[in-house]
This record gives sequence, structure tokens and C-alpha cells, in this order.
Amino acid sequence: MSKRPEAVRKEESMLLQKRMIGDHYEALERARDEGRKVVYTFVPGNLTELMRSFDVLPVLPEINALQSGMRKLSGGYIAEAEKHGHSEDVCTYVKCDIGMLKKGNVGPTGKKLPEPDLLLLSYTGCFTFMKWFELLRQEYDCPVAMLHVPYQADGKIHDHHRDYVVEQLKSEVIPAFEQVTGRSYDEERLRASLTLSASAEDDLVWVLESAKNVPSPIDAYFGGVYYIGPMFTAFRGTEEGVEYYRTLRGEIEQRLAGGQGPITPEGELDEERYRLVVEGPPNWTSFREFWKMFYDEGAVVVASSYTKVGGLYDRGFRHDPERPLETLADYCLGCYTNLGLPSRTALLEAYIREYRADGFMINSVKSCNSFSVGQLLILRQLEERTGVPGGFIESDLVDPRYFSAANIKNRIESYLQMLEQKRAGAAGAA
Ligand code: SF4
Repeated sequence: MSKRPEAVRKEESMLLQKRMIGDHYEALERARDEGRKVVYTFVPGNLTELMRSFDVLPVLPEINALQSGMRKLSGGYIAEAEKHGHSEDVCTYVKCDIGMLKKGNVGPTGKKLPEPDLLLLSYTGCFTFMKWFELLRQEYDCPVAMLHVPYQADGKIHDHHRDYVVEQLKSEVIPAFEQVTGRSYDEERLRASLTLSASAEDDLVWVLESAKNVPSPIDAYFGGVYYIGPMFTAFRGTEEGVEYYRTLRGEIEQRLAGGQGPITPEGELDEERYRLVVEGPPNWTSFREFWKMFYDEGAVVVASSYTKVGGLYDRGFRHDPERPLETLADYCLGCYTNLGLPSRTALLEAYIREYRADGFMINSVKSCNSFSVGQLLILRQLEERTGVPGGFIESDLVDPRYFSAANIKNRIESYLQMLEQKRAGAAGAA
């Protein structure tokens, strides 16, 4: 293990993010008293700028679920949902959310969440999204607006896809916001918000791509999930979001200039031994333990698909204030959950090459069919195309029953040993 414990400290960006999240939950707590409207919606395909233009506050059930996982609350919530008849096979984000609701809907910061005024279902590729909001619809007396986003079957966004989504924004989603808030659609306000989004997106991409350097100044998976937080949740299109990404970028620029490695929960990693690409969401119930299995071995994740679940900005997409509704459509169409297997494989292949990875690891989570389906095919195709060996582990998002620490650690260690032997063999042959 090669870390410098004296480097454990809270960076300004971490403190900033903590404050932003805390303020957001406090605003939610006050929402009823202040007459502000609340919309529940999902991370992939979220229309944050549009919501902000109507001054509504978003609640993202997946974020509540993962936060409950990190706070060791999800096991109890899942048990509660199973008591109400939800099968063991259902996505555990859903069961965690339903369990939380049945136990009083107290959010991750210990504050009760307000009920939704609108359920905004952006349907980007995962069928579970639809079933999830059908369940919430039974619990809440509020309207549902559905945005149906066509799957990118051939890996392209066609004009008729975009037109179809824009038409729904005009005829379904915007009228639903107008109805709920009593405000009219304000395109100038939306444009202003989209301008802020694009600025923050530039800085996020810079941060993610800093991992192309050797050594990488960031871990683009375990650290990456913190970096994407504001962008993928409530802060895209806001001044706070812009400030967060500017601050984060400044910190990473300094790390890069100093030749420093990523910060881990135990300090700075100062010896990068393996560069990995990771496919699949992380486990949240044992997040730190999981991360430690990598950094203890000097393994740094240089790129990951999960940090693209709320948008593939690193492939060039930016929200464009000149085309406000079209850009929202393109954003929804381009989310990772809306991509077919060939596109996902091509993306991972590009990451392995562009980030000069020694290996790639698939974390197949039991809950999420949207990610897990086809992962063995992805594994085989990536090995064939790149010659880089892949590893495969299994866990879950927020169900602690499916995190077998000894088994996962054993697999990671064996995989990294195999990479080491391969490297030694290549050096011997040279
Ligand atoms: S199945 Fe996967 S993508 Fe779908 S809601 Fe659950 S975690 Fe999200």
C-alpha cells in the first residue's frame, strides 16, 4: 500500500458540494411553507434546466437510495418493501425507495421529504423507471408527465427521434409544469440555465479527462461518483454548479501540476500500479471497503461508464442555449442507459485505448438489468478487440446481502496478479 496519510483533508470542492446538498435538502424541507413545487424525477434524462426555469425543486429517488445505501439504511428499507410484497428480484433502488416511503419518507439527511407535485418520468432506456413511478403514482395524489425517449437502437440520434421528444416536451411536459406551477414557460430563463450547464460541463469533462495523464490525478470511478454528483442531480444549470466545477478543476489542475495521484479516504495514492476501466455501477453499502480493495493494490480507475449515466459529455455533447428544447432532447437520447450494447462496447473500447488502461473490470450488479444485461458479451468482445484482459465481479447497488467482501477481494487480487504476470511476461519477452 502506498499512500500518504497526511494528505487526508477536505478539499474546498468537497465542502462546497456538501453545503450545496445540505442546502438543497433544507430547501426541500421548506418547500411547502414557501409555496415551492417539488418534482420527483430520475437521473438519466433529467430535465433540470427546465425544472429550474419553473423554479421547482427536484427530488431524485436513485440519489436517495444510494445515499441510504452509504448510510447503511438501505437493508432495512429493502426488507420493508419485501414485506409489502416486492420480489427479491426487483431493482433494489426501487425497493429502497419504497421502503423509505413506507417508513415515513425521511430523506438521507434526516429531513422528511415533501410529497411530489408532479412525477416527471423521463423514460431513457430502463423499463424499471416506468414501473417505479407506477408504484409511486399509487402512493401520491399527483399528476404524472411521461417523456418517452426512443432507444438508440443503431447508435445514432436521428432527426425523427429528436422531433418526437421535442413534440412531447411541448405538448406534455411543459404544459404539465405550467399547470402545476401556475407559471408560463420562459424560454429566456431556460436559455440562461443551459448556458450555465455548458460551462460546468466543460469543466467536468476536463476533470474526467485529466485521468489520461500518467499518473492520473483522479480516480474516475470512486472519486468520479462524487465529481458527477452536482451535474447529475439538482445543480446543472445553476451558478452553484458552475462554481463547484470551477473549484474542482482548479484543485485537479494543481494535483496534475504536482504529479500527484488521486486522493483516497486514507490519503493520497502515490504509486499508480494499475490503470483500469470499470463498467457498471459501484456498490454503495460497502463503498469505502470496495474502493480500498482497489487502492490498496495501487489500482486507479481511469475511466468508467457509470460516471456517464447522466450524460456523455466527454464524447462532445454540451447543452446548447441556441436550441433549448432540441438540446434537452439530445441530452435524453444520449444517456448511457439509452445506448445499445454495440455503442456501450465501443465506448469502453475507446476508453481502454484513450486512457491507456492495463485492464478493465466489470462490476455486474444483481439489481440493474439495464447495466448488467450483455456484460459477458461486452467482456468477450473487449478482450478480443483490445487484447486487454477483463475481470468480472458481482455485487449489488444497495442490498447489503449481495456484497460478499471476501469473494470480491479475492477476485480483484487474483485479477491484478494476473495483470502483473502478464506485464512481467511482456517485459521478459522484450
Ligand atoms: S434497473 Fe438500473 S437503471 Fe433501472 S432503475 Fe434500477 S438501477 Fe436504475
